[in-house]
Amino acid sequence: DVSGDGMEIDEEVRLKYRYLDLRRPRLARNMRSRGELLKHARDFLIARDFVEIETPMLTKTTPEGSRDFIVPSRLHPGKFYALPQSPQQYKQLLMVAGFERYFQIARAMRDEDLRADRGFEHSQIDLEMSFVERENVMKTVEELVIYVMDKMGKKIKEKPFPIFSYAEAIKKFGQDKFDLRSDSEKKDGTLSFAWVMDFPVFEKAENGSLTYSHNPFTAPRKEDVEKLLAGQDLEKLVSLQYDLVCNGHEVAGGGIRISRPEVLKKVFEVLGHSAKEVERQFGHIIDAFRYGAPPHGGIALGVERLLMIVLGESYLREVQAFPMTSGGKTAVMAAPQDATKEQLKEMHLRITQ
Ligand code: ASP
Repeated sequence: DVSGDGMEIDEEVRLKYRYLDLRRPRLARNMRSRGELLKHARDFLIARDFVEIETPMLTKTTPEGSRDFIVPSRLHPGKFYALPQSPQQYKQLLMVAGFERYFQIARAMRDEDLRADRGFEHSQIDLEMSFVERENVMKTVEELVIYVMDKMGKKIKEKPFPIFSYAEAIKKFGQDKFDLRSDSEKKDGTLSFAWVMDFPVFEKAENGSLTYSHNPFTAPRKEDVEKLLAGQDLEKLVSLQYDLVCNGHEVAGGGIRISRPEVLKKVFEVLGHSAKEVERQFGHIIDAFRYGAPPHGGIALGVERLLMIVLGESYLREVQAFPMTSGGKTAVMAAPQDATKEQLKEMHLRITQ
């Protein structure tokens, strides 16, 4: 039955017959709204001189705190590509290349535990700008969000968006994503955006070692750079990261980047990588920065998260055409699947269990 909202039907069944499920007026509307949101975002960014550039899907690991999906190479036996957790390093390389404003509706792949608002693949409105301070990026993104939401007929609670420091947010709300709406605003679909900034550069991992709190490319604020280089007060260093929250969800995250090779090297050292390992994993970007990297920063907005909120949905899968099941199986076509003997041979792989 495709006349109702479909919520009473088992997820596996809905996704197996997704092409029928998508006939449901609610889902058909969601897919059209998705296209609209991306069109408005593109219009805004192109009018601001951003250049749309696509970056590779078969690539090398770029850490965003998740596990990589890896792809075996036929031509290079025993070697693997990684699918991008984000276009992070490529967009920074584009800044070195002289594109002062880049954007992409990018696909990001992260092998993580699936939740209502987290999937293996998601899309990001990903952008990066040269010769900017934190405030310039935040202002551009705020204008982008206001433009898009206006076009989609949504009401925003407070403009300009209020700003909280990470410490303030934790003290006031107990976490760094929060909902500022009143009960009546929750009913009428108002959107309440707020910025969170001044995050710590490093945080303690479960095993007690230091890990990055967003991604390892985020710069510490100016007054903390020397401390980082000297290895002082590492847990107290504050970063130039900014997150955008909306109605209790994190909908965007970005930062001003490290553009000095020695600072980036130091971060990797603190994170416990040996000099050899840094060279192997990240030598290319440290090298690139030696040719002169403009100060730069950017952000990525989560397309599904934003849409989910705008459309009043509770699950990412309601705003994706062919989402995965919560057990990690694809819609309609049942993947992952066995590879044939021939494929395994060509890929130089043996399955041991
Ligand atoms: N690469 C970051 C992410 O995917 C976003 C950014 O810092 O621009 O979360």
